[in-house]
Amino acid sequence: PSVPDMEALQHEDVAWLLPRPGAESDKYRRGVVGVVAGSARYPGAAVLAVAGALRGGAGAVRYVGPASNAVIARFPETLVHDGPPSKAGRVQAWVVGPGLGEGPGVPEVLASDVPVLVDADGLRELSPEAVRRRPAPTLLTPHAGEAAALLGVERGEVEARRLWAVRELAARFGATVLLKGSTTLVADAEGALPVRVNPTGTSWLATAGSGDVLSGLSGSLLAAGLRPRDAASSAAYLHGLSARLTSGGTTPVSAGDVADGLPRAWGNVV
Ligand code: AMP
Ligand code: MG
Repeated sequence: PSVPDMEALQHEDVAWLLPRPGAESDKYRRGVVGVVAGSARYPGAAVLAVAGALRGGAGAVRYVGPASNAVIARFPETLVHDGPPSKAGRVQAWVVGPGLGEGPGVPEVLASDVPVLVDADGLRELSPEAVRRRPAPTLLTPHAGEAAALLGVERGEVEARRLWAVRELAARFGATVLLKGSTTLVADAEGALPVRVNPTGTSWLATAGSGDVLSGLSGSLLAAGLRPRDAASSAAYLHGLSARLTSGGTTPVSAGDVADGLPRAWGNVV
């Protein structure tokens, strides 16, 4: 029997994958997420990525970047750090890129020995070699425009050949790739089939900041120990479900609403 090109994650698959803290859990074992995001121009991206991580069950979130005040004002439970990511203390996964602008941090985070999710500005000028030589898994979460830039093709080509694009990126970078858009696809590192397709999306997710929430949420699941493709596809599932449950699928949602709805989506799945 041949391997299908795509498979959709089912409700029960996600229920099985999501972490459940046991009696012996503590915040460090649950998973600490490091978030390198935000800039003077885009402080809100940092807030939304932290929101996704906290609502996604992180034991703790360490934030590194220039938006500490904005992050703390909204989420006082965040551990904020000045200085470089390597001085921030131990994390089980890093999220780097949302709203980062030209900010530093990407090479240092890539040099770490824990799983790293790279999104948004972190994807600019990302070289396949830098990702390939990492000692731990990498998850890339581009939208079509970011994927096109990484592949050196027009955005329209990614839109027209999404299955090709996500597998090609995974093969070139040796990374798991979540390609965002009307149908979100997740390809395993090296692009093996089948590619996972997320069944819960809604066009209302096409709103500023919703990708930042997805990054933080995916980072949280990585930090909890899920394999990158399981973290990415479970996160996309919960993210879409949160939007649908929040709006009934028929009215607008903001990115903050999607983050706030994540615990409800989680509860709907398990
Ligand atoms: P970003 O482009 O980084 O802000 O991420 C946008 C988020 O919205 C991703 O989770 C996309 O998968 C999702 N999204 C964007 N457009 C659509 C669409 N037309 N239908 C469903 N989801 C979408
Ligand atoms: Mg984005």
